[in-house]
Amino acid sequence: MKTDIKSMTLAEMTAAMKELGLPGFRAGQIYTWLHRGATSFADMTNLSKDLREKLDERYEITAPQVVRKQESQHDGTVKYLWRLADGNCVETVLMRYHYGNSVCISCEVGCAMGCAFCASTQGGLVRRLKPSEMLDQVLFTALDSGLSISHIVLMGIGEPLDNFDTVMRFLELVNSPQGMNISMRHISLSTCGLVPRIRLLAEKKLQLTLSVSLHAPTDEIRNTIMPVNRAYNVETLLAACRDYYEATGRRISFEYAMIRDVNDSPECARTLLRKLRGLPAHVNLIPLNEVEGSPLHPSSRKTVMQFQKILTDGGVNATVRRTLGGDIDASCGQLRRNYEKNGKKSE
Ligand code: SAH
Repeated sequence: MKTDIKSMTLAEMTAAMKELGLPGFRAGQIYTWLHRGATSFADMTNLSKDLREKLDERYEITAPQVVRKQESQHDGTVKYLWRLADGNCVETVLMRYHYGNSVCISCEVGCAMGCAFCASTQGGLVRRLKPSEMLDQVLFTALDSGLSISHIVLMGIGEPLDNFDTVMRFLELVNSPQGMNISMRHISLSTCGLVPRIRLLAEKKLQLTLSVSLHAPTDEIRNTIMPVNRAYNVETLLAACRDYYEATGRRISFEYAMIRDVNDSPECARTLLRKLRGLPAHVNLIPLNEVEGSPLHPSSRKTVMQFQKILTDGGVNATVRRTLGGDIDASCGQLRRNYEKNGKKSE
């Protein structure tokens, strides 16, 4: 078994090169090649042939293959379906904003969390990704599109805090000055609410934005759409959010998918308002993305606007998320799911 070299930090690579009897700067050279997307040691032309062969014997370089690529006709959003070395597939979405180009990446193949409205979880969790496989999504999206990436959201397939150590390592890699050097302040991490892990993340005091998928203000409603709420209920979750803010000074962003007749009443808005009082927060209202075969449907535009007004009138910052890529199954999990169901057979 060869070692996955792209999952190594620069410090680890330096130590490994020392063991091979090589000077530390060699590690820096290799690290830079890898983080610019080199897919074989043979490409690393500033290393001797002998060293390249030595590395090739010990290490492997991950590189996903594009299986599907869908481009929105409306807004330039591009969705990639990648095939990993073991044949599993994950999705990445590239979104173009006025402030820069952002990628939404996956951290697991499938998901164990079981949210009722989400396509990613329908087949359960297959496996967690490796740090290199997360980094590759950013790297190869940049290379394929020819665009530079300034922002990352961990909002694709999977639950980031369920793959905690890998995600921490990925953040270190993508943030490193010798690598892609993407600022922590330009990274958002979204969680369904794994409270002990939110507390662990708080201890790291990272400058990223924590996004919490709340989707309901009461246990009564949240229990019906998010199984995680039975382990960590709304009160426990919001207490962890308050402590997270205390520890990091970072305002929390709450995701709230508006589902018709489930969580979209004016009463829900008022309850939410009451529970968020005093917590520096931003609420992102997202009209539910319809998932084929699901009994859940999006709220009407009017209902979303009314809900937003109740929040903003009460002093809570709330915006309605612009939906990008509506014409290309851009809600994460949908492309992989459609491919697993239909696409593979026709290949
Ligand atoms: N597991 C993490 C991140 C992945 S999902 C989490 O739960 O936050 C990214 C966001 O998309 C979450 O807020 C999730 O609840 C939301 N989401 C999933 N399916 C959706 C759908 N059909 N419509 C709208 N938002 C959805």
